Amino acid sequence: MSEERMQKALATLKSSGVRITPQRHAVLEYLMHSMNHPTADEIYKALEGKFPNMSVATVYNNLRVFLDIGLVRELTYGDSSSRFDCNTTEHYHVICNSCGKIVDFHYPALDEVEQLAEQVTGFNVSHHRMEVYGTCTDCQENKSH
Ligand SMILES: [Zn+2]
Ligand SMILES: [Zn+2]
Repeated sequence: MSEERMQKALATLKSSGVRITPQRHAVLEYLMHSMNHPTADEIYKALEGKFPNMSVATVYNNLRVFLDIGLVRELTYGDSSSRFDCNTTEHYHVICNSCGKIVDFHYPALDEVEQLAEQVTGFNVSHHRMEVYGTCTDCQENKSH
């Protein structure tokens, strides 16, 4: 299934007139195959062996290109390092308090909250964010040892 998403993403790049360099391909592939919302730094570390000339800036530039055409989403959680999510369908995140891992989960979008916010405040609501926090299964196991 990730192969299909990869082909779709490549088609989107092509139709947006974005040149597909080997590095760009590798960054995209890493994002598509890792479901763990990596930071630019993590992507860089995973690929630097394959592309010795690549810099973190290159990774960032590629991520910007993907962001611009809507292939990825940027998740900022108040720290300096943004995480990147190649799952652009509506979903929520549960975040581990211990290791910072972010896991997708699906729940019907809370449209009523947005509607109520509009009614109560008169805002023209664009979107909302909801995050759930806890301890992931790995960290639960580590604690019990
Ligand atoms: Zn954890
Ligand atoms: Zn996600």
